[in-house]
Amino acid sequence: KRHPEGRALRAEVDLGRIARNLGRVRTASGGRGIWAVVKANAYGHGAVPVSRALEEAGVHGLAVSSLEEGLELRRGGIECPVLVLGGLRPEALPAASAENLTIAVVGPEHLDDYARALPRHPVRLHLKLDTGMGRFGLLPSELGEHLLQLQRLAPWIEGAMGHFATADDPDPGFAQRQRGVFDACLAQLADGGIRPEQRHHGNSDACLRGMLGQDTHVRPGLALYGLTMLAEGRALGLEPALELVAEVARVKAMPAGTTVGYGRTFVAPHPLQIATLACGYADGYRRDLGNKAVVGFQGRTFPVVGRISMDYLTVALPLDVHLAIGDPMTLYSGNPDAAHSLERLAQLLGTIPYELTCALHRRITRRFT
Ligand code: PLP
Repeated sequence: KRHPEGRALRAEVDLGRIARNLGRVRTASGGRGIWAVVKANAYGHGAVPVSRALEEAGVHGLAVSSLEEGLELRRGGIECPVLVLGGLRPEALPAASAENLTIAVVGPEHLDDYARALPRHPVRLHLKLDTGMGRFGLLPSELGEHLLQLQRLAPWIEGAMGHFATADDPDPGFAQRQRGVFDACLAQLADGGIRPEQRHHGNSDACLRGMLGQDTHVRPGLALYGLTMLAEGRALGLEPALELVAEVARVKAMPAGTTVGYGRTFVAPHPLQIATLACGYADGYRRDLGNKAVVGFQGRTFPVVGRISMDYLTVALPLDVHLAIGDPMTLYSGNPDAAHSLERLAQLLGTIPYELTCALHRRITRRFT
């Protein structure tokens, strides 16, 4: 079954693993309601199929970054609550209301516009509080300043949320401070008669480390995809849901001394085979993995040699490995202990697995099982 255009590159996404990861995260979070984070095309895994699987597995709702991402889910038939984390301009409220989206209020600037529009275009609101991330959200000082405006919005306020900056830090000090600020904000709101029924401050790492305080809900992303940089996550048995697989597009035996690719950064030290795979930096496979990463083939790993180009990369194999055009090689492994797992490659690059999966280009075929 060759790919008709010769770009035989696919992300194989195991939705069963995502559903099982959800169960593990739910247990770790003490059964709290789950807003599953599926922004950025479900961290590159494929927004609509992943969302459908999570909806079937019983999440409370799904969280996306923008109105467009929310609308994509609705067009894809998703019916559960969808929370737009990035906020919304007041002009977009009618569209959000028509599609029954839930909106994070990320600052004080549009509160009056919202109060005017909501009676005709109702949406549920979650107040985003800046408890120490320093990015989006109302600061504690702004809550007091804008309390009257917030009170007018009270009938629509369903939730209050914050976001940890250091949930992965072995030193819990700053996270505890953020928790304290969150609690103080909730008390301040309650004094003003605003008591959001949902409270959520925890991402994946906060769920894994039990940093959930009095929260009613959690907001995990990464762990649902089976990825984690924490020992607690591995101990929980999270299963990576995505494998990136490329079929061998070309294979040739090369004499010693042959150079491969731009800049001739690889010189064959002895006779070997070079397999060319149709995966390059345009697909999201990082250019700085050239001469660093390995790929999996028939239970072994082989080095990626030479520079990564836009559409191709090259792998060196000994001459005695039997290899044919169309053979599948694994670029990102679903085994977290493999040298080509997303966690290990991210470490090698000095980055985080999020960046690698989010970078997977839409031109890559996603195959869901
Ligand atoms: N909540 C917000 C506001 C986020 O921006 C993110 C992701 O960046 C998450 C939750 C989920 O975080 P994680 O993938 O680390 O669980």
